[in-house]
Amino acid sequence: MFSGLSESKAAPLKRKWKMEEILLEWARAIHRENPVVDAHFDLAAEVYNRRLHGERNVVERHYLQHFWEAGLNVCVSSVFVPSKDLPEKGLHTAIAQIEALREDLEPIRSEVGIVTGREELEQALGRGRIGILLSLEGLDPIGTDLYLLRAFYDLGVRGAGLTWSRPNAFARGCCPAGEMKEISGGLTDLGREAVAKMEALGMYLDVSHLNNDGFGDVLECAARPFAASHSDAWTVHADYRNLRDDQIEALAARGGVIGLNACGTIAGAAPYPREAALECLCRHVEHLVRVAGEEHVGFGFDLCNGLSASMPRLSFETEEDDLLLHHGEMPLLSAALLERGMTEDTLIGLIGGNFLRYFRNVLS
Ligand SMILES: [Zn+2]
Repeated sequence: MFSGLSESKAAPLKRKWKMEEILLEWARAIHRENPVVDAHFDLAAEVYNRRLHGERNVVERHYLQHFWEAGLNVCVSSVFVPSKDLPEKGLHTAIAQIEALREDLEPIRSEVGIVTGREELEQALGRGRIGILLSLEGLDPIGTDLYLLRAFYDLGVRGAGLTWSRPNAFARGCCPAGEMKEISGGLTDLGREAVAKMEALGMYLDVSHLNNDGFGDVLECAARPFAASHSDAWTVHADYRNLRDDQIEALAARGGVIGLNACGTIAGAAPYPREAALECLCRHVEHLVRVAGEEHVGFGFDLCNGLSASMPRLSFETEEDDLLLHHGEMPLLSAALLERGMTEDTLIGLIGGNFLRYFRNVLS
């Protein structure tokens, strides 16, 4: 299995290149020359938490270098409100996270910035600037008032999931928060109204935290392509957060994209040994591509180590659960996929081309 982690002690000009080094250089070149997208990253919540504790320039200090190493062009920042803030402080926390992120990016605005429209996205891509898209991870902050959905659109939010697992006014979600066991029950009438309003506003629907009943309801009521930004394949690892093959097929048939989740609990591996972690991610990717088709799979890594370190521990979280330690390791995954026989064309869609096409449609 490709590791990319060993270093030769010979001088660069004299050493004989190993196959794994050649693959990693190939992967890095592909990342440099093509769009790279992470469709789910809990950035705003972490930035807000760290700034509350006095840190500044959080993205620059913790992430910018890794973003460059990945060749990242577009990153979706979720707006994630922890259960302790609900219901009373949900709206406050969501707005504060967005504004904290905006303020944190201000000193590096020539390199990273929030994008809200197609033109801004194309400008960012053209200038090599990283575009951040905002997505609400659960509609809890709006309570039961769909007018607030428009308010979040006006704040720049361009995607949303109806629920982050925990039941709310819109849907039941895939588990009671923190208990990690599947529950039943689909969308409420208000949830269906929310889907219609999101589509009318120009926001994409993210089904990653819905349960099976909710997914079925979305198939009935959604008119536009929807995404599962950070979910893996149930067939590879039977976790309540992952999608069955028939769901993956249905999402792809509607023109949606599913993003590979690199959370160890969800993918079904531990971060160490590193080779086994990469192999697990490759098996999910290959299955998703087989079932969905290569144009409907991307990355939504859900890297959470940073967020976990910035907040009081949630009871169900394990420390350092991410199978990629940071975005700078993205080319390692790409090299491993090349080694296993993935074609360059398929990889180009996977690392960003597919989600970029989806987001371009949403933003136009
Ligand atoms: Zn999530």
